[in-house]
Amino acid sequence: MSEQSASPLTDGPADPEHDSTAAYGLDRSYVAALTRRIVSTTGETHAVSSPIGGAPLAHVPQSGPADVAEAFSRARHAQAAWAATPLDERAAALLRLHDLVLDRQDELIDLVVWESGKARKDAYLEVAHLALTARYYARTAHQHLDVQRVGGMFPVLTRAEVHRVPKGVVGIISPWNYPLTMALCDGLPALLAGNAVVSKPDAQTMLTALLAAQLLDEAGFPPEVWQVVAGPGPEVGGAIVAEADYVCFTGSTATGRIIAQQCAERLIGCSLELGGKNPMLVLRDADVHRAAEGAVRAVFSNAGQLCVSMERLFVADQVYDRFVDAFVSRTQAMTLGASQDWSVDMGSLISQAQLDTVTRHVEDAVAKGARVLTGGRARPDLGPFVFEPTILEGVSADMECFGKETFGPVVSLYRFHSEDEAVERANDGHYGLNASVYTRDAARGRAVARRIRCGTVNVNEAYGATFGSLGAPMGGMRESGMGRRQGAEGILRYTEAQSVATQRLVPIAPMFGMSEETNAKVLTASLRLLNKLGRA
Ligand code: NAD
Repeated sequence: MSEQSASPLTDGPADPEHDSTAAYGLDRSYVAALTRRIVSTTGETHAVSSPIGGAPLAHVPQSGPADVAEAFSRARHAQAAWAATPLDERAAALLRLHDLVLDRQDELIDLVVWESGKARKDAYLEVAHLALTARYYARTAHQHLDVQRVGGMFPVLTRAEVHRVPKGVVGIISPWNYPLTMALCDGLPALLAGNAVVSKPDAQTMLTALLAAQLLDEAGFPPEVWQVVAGPGPEVGGAIVAEADYVCFTGSTATGRIIAQQCAERLIGCSLELGGKNPMLVLRDADVHRAAEGAVRAVFSNAGQLCVSMERLFVADQVYDRFVDAFVSRTQAMTLGASQDWSVDMGSLISQAQLDTVTRHVEDAVAKGARVLTGGRARPDLGPFVFEPTILEGVSADMECFGKETFGPVVSLYRFHSEDEAVERANDGHYGLNASVYTRDAARGRAVARRIRCGTVNVNEAYGATFGSLGAPMGGMRESGMGRRQGAEGILRYTEAQSVATQRLVPIAPMFGMSEETNAKVLTASLRLLNKLGRA
C-alpha cells in the first residue's frame, strides 16, 4: 500500500477514497461508533495510520478549549450523583468490567496491535493488567475508602474519624505506549473513589482508549462520568490542567515538569509517572540462563517502549561472558514482525519519531566506539518502524544512550567487579523508576534492592512481579515521578482526607471555673498518664 497518494489529506495516511491502492485497516462504521464518544465541535480531524503496513485507521475528531470546558461541565454535573452511589455498586461495576475485558480480549488486542504495532503477547499483558487492576480495587474498596476511626485527643471524650472525600473531576493525560492500560488503569480507582474523569489519551492511540470507554459504559458506569477529549498535548492537555481538581499524568519527564508547574500555580495535586533509564543487575551467583531469559523480557518487551524496561545491564565479572553468550543467542532467536500474529516475539516501534530516536542513539554510540553484539539496524522489510533488538557493549558517558532514555529495543552492557560498585552505577543519573536484580539468593537480592533508589525493584524478574502485584505502589523516585499508582496510594491520591471529631461531655478548655494555670496542670497530668498507658 502506498503512503504517497492523491489524497487531499495532508496530515495523514493514504485515504482509500482518493487512492485506489490504499485500504482501511478497520471497518469505518466500527471506527465511527468509537469516535462518537469524543467531545468535539471543532470540525477538525487528525489522521491516524497503523505501524502495520501504514494502513489508514481513522480520522479522529479533535477537541478545542470549548470542548474541554464542556467535558468538565458534563463530568462535574454527573460526579455528585456518582459519588452518592453506594460503594458496593461502584465496586460491582469494576468487577463487571473485569469480566468484560477478559471476554472481549480478542477485539481489544486486535485494536491495540493495529494502533501500536506491538506484539500480540505484549497487547495481551495490557488486558491482564487491566483485569488485575479492576479486581484489586473492587475487592479492596472498603479497605481504602471506608470511614476510619482514629484515636481521639481523649479516650471516650473525643471521637475522631477520617472520611475519604472524592477530589471531584480528575484529568488523566496518558501516553501511547500501553494504550489500554494507560488509558484506563489510573482512572479506575478515581471512579471507585467517587470522582468523574476527563481523559486525554495520546493522539496515536485514541481508538483503543475509546473502546475502553465503551467497555466502561457496558460495565454500567454512567457514561457522563468518563469524558474523552482529543488533541495536541500542549493545547488540550493544558486546558485539562486548567480545569481539573487533580491531574494524573503519565509521559515524559519534560512534559511532567510543565504539568507540575501548572498544577502548582493552581494549587491542585498531581501524580506524575515519568521516564526512566532502568538498571538490571546480574550478581555473581545468578543463574545465568534464568537471568538471560529475564533480560530478554526486561529489555525487549513492547520493543523497549515501556517505562519500566531495562536499558542498562550490569553483570558481575564472574558470569559476564556466560551471561552475554546466553543473552545474545536468546535475542537472536527472537521473531520480529509487524502483524497480528501470536508468533511475533517483538513487534514494531509505534512511529517514525520513535524509529528516529532509536536509530540516532545507536548510530551515535557506534560512531563513538560502542560495539554492536547483535541487532543495530532498522528492518523496513518487516515494517516501516521495525528495529532489531540491539545489544551494545563499550558504551561510555559521552554517548547519548548512556544516560538518556532511548525508549526502544536497545540495551548497554556493563561489567562490574563488586556489588557496591554495581549499586553505585545503578543509582547514577537522574532517574529512579524500576530496577531488577538476579541472584540465586533471594534474601541477598532483596538486600541489594533496598540500596537501589528506584520506586520498584524486582528480584529474579524484570518488571512484571511489581507491576502485577496491584497492592504494591508503583512509581518513580527522583526525576521518574511523583506519587504512586496501584495499592493504597493509587486510590487515596484521588481523595481528600476529611477529619471529623466530636467532643463529648467536657470541652477542650478550662472547665468548672478552672484557671488557665490549673487547666495546664490537669492537661499535663493527663498527657503523662496517656503516655504511661502507651496511647499513640
Ligand atoms: P509525552 O510527555 O510527550 O506525552 C504524554 C502525554 O502528554 C500525551 O498524551 C501528550 O499528548 C501529552 N502532552 C504532551 N505535551 C503536553 C503538555 N505540554 N501539556 C499537557 N499534556 C501534554 O510522552 P511520550 O513521549 O508520548 O511518552 C513516552 C514517555 O512516557 C517516556 O518517557 C516513558 O518513560 C514515559 N512513560 C512513563 C510511564 C510510567 O509509568 N512512569 C509509563 C509509560 C510511559
